[in-house]
Amino acid sequence: MADLDIPTARQLIDGAWTAAADGGELPVLDPATRETIQSVARARAVDVDHAVAAARRAAPGWAATSPSERGAILRRWADLIGAHVEQLAEHESRDVGKPRSGGRLNMYITQGIVDYFAGAADKLTGVTLPTRTPDYFGYTRPEPYGVCAVIIPWNVPAVLTVANVAPALAAGNTVVLKPSEIAPLSPFALAELGRRAGLPPGVLNVVTGLGPEAGVALTGHPDIDHISFVGSTVTGRAVMRAAAQHLVPVKLELGGKSPNVVFADADLDVAIPAIIASITENAGQNCYAGSRLLVEESIRAQVVERVAAGMAAIRTGPWDQDLDMGPLVSQAQYERVRGFLAEAPSAGARLVTGGEPATAAFDDGWYVAPTVFDQVDSDMRLAREEVFGPVLAVQGFRGVDEAVALMNGTDFGLLACIWTSDVSRALRVAGQARAGQVAVNQFHDAGVIGFPFNMQKESGFSRGGGYAALREYTQEKAVAVRLLDRPSA
Ligand code: NAD
Repeated sequence: MADLDIPTARQLIDGAWTAAADGGELPVLDPATRETIQSVARARAVDVDHAVAAARRAAPGWAATSPSERGAILRRWADLIGAHVEQLAEHESRDVGKPRSGGRLNMYITQGIVDYFAGAADKLTGVTLPTRTPDYFGYTRPEPYGVCAVIIPWNVPAVLTVANVAPALAAGNTVVLKPSEIAPLSPFALAELGRRAGLPPGVLNVVTGLGPEAGVALTGHPDIDHISFVGSTVTGRAVMRAAAQHLVPVKLELGGKSPNVVFADADLDVAIPAIIASITENAGQNCYAGSRLLVEESIRAQVVERVAAGMAAIRTGPWDQDLDMGPLVSQAQYERVRGFLAEAPSAGARLVTGGEPATAAFDDGWYVAPTVFDQVDSDMRLAREEVFGPVLAVQGFRGVDEAVALMNGTDFGLLACIWTSDVSRALRVAGQARAGQVAVNQFHDAGVIGFPFNMQKESGFSRGGGYAALREYTQEKAVAVRLLDRPSA
């Protein structure tokens, strides 16, 4: 392949682009036009078998390479990603519907993640253990699991590919990746670059197929040693049930309903643009999207007014126009979000802005306008369930206790963002948050390197992100040794 075009109706198994065993194909659609971009292979159980067998064959050789060698290949991979940012961004932006600059930003993050694990590969160590007498020696050694299955969704496919694949490979595992059937192009392009960087055949295999076909075949496969699943909470439950058949360890990164908690002393000039970005970036289709705005009653009216004005000013269009926001990714996602828009007013929420398809000019795509609902009650579906669209639910609070109760008042526990000038209050509320990640006076993790991507409650139980991810992809072996007496020679 001279450039990074993805071969039609193919998948990447054992270092080669191959058709599905039965020749099946899946169309990949452009969400801005609903037209087919190209087709990819429709993997079924037999294709998954081939991919797992290739990964198994490659596993001993890859595990036996030195960590520095693995790190060097990952560094070449990172460099190649850096050299192909525009092509990768085009694949992802077109496939998911995000503005070109959003795709480009995702590729810089992707490159940074691979680079991080390139450097981390030879920093993985065990420990020496204390012994009761000098006649013993004890130590631990981190070992790869073997063959890791990685299943990801469509919203940020490149970042999620490397966030799982790079630490798995760095730790000495081989991988079978199943991207979402909706957005497989940037994962395929990344895998091709990995191949060019020197990943041996079978070390990284990519099968595309439907969840109930390829996904079920992979999670129930008897020769998989570890499963990483990123996706919805509903599917996460099914994956965990499948993993139980063979008692395979699972890492789950699931949905969210993350709050921005805004106290009256917050710096609103900083908070308001971040709150708007948190629910419109990627058209609100992020697991950590700031889909709930919890605001102190004394400033509620002005915050709602300013946020709504900013949301109404968001420019919407196809990926190549590179505006602020694109369409939703699919017909199913469009119908799901429109369902929330239709239901919320009758449940008692007040529509402040949006609620309609963006503009007639974009009728061809799955566009939804940035939408704000005020006076949302905790019992409403809008307050509790993940919409996965640019739809913000506003609730007011009086005092810290009510803020904390609302903050923790859903089944999810991914991210909580706290906006206040009072550092003591920020740290107390951060301590009370039932979330794997907390941000103070910013949305998410900007400025922190290797931020652990942790989850609580029904958002999952990942220990992804940063160095912890390297540990996630290793199992620890403990070794106890008795030192025998030997007559000196
Ligand atoms: P999804 O659960 O429908 O699908 C995710 C992946 O699982 C896809 O590749 C799909 O083909 C596959 N799949 C579907 N059914 C399966 C099954 N029974 N067995 C095995 N695999 C199966 O999710 P989606 O709609 O693609 O993505 C949106 C969801 O992903 C949202 O809930 C979002 O919050 C979540 N997400 C979470 C994170 C995180 O890190 N916590 C990051 C991004 C997205």
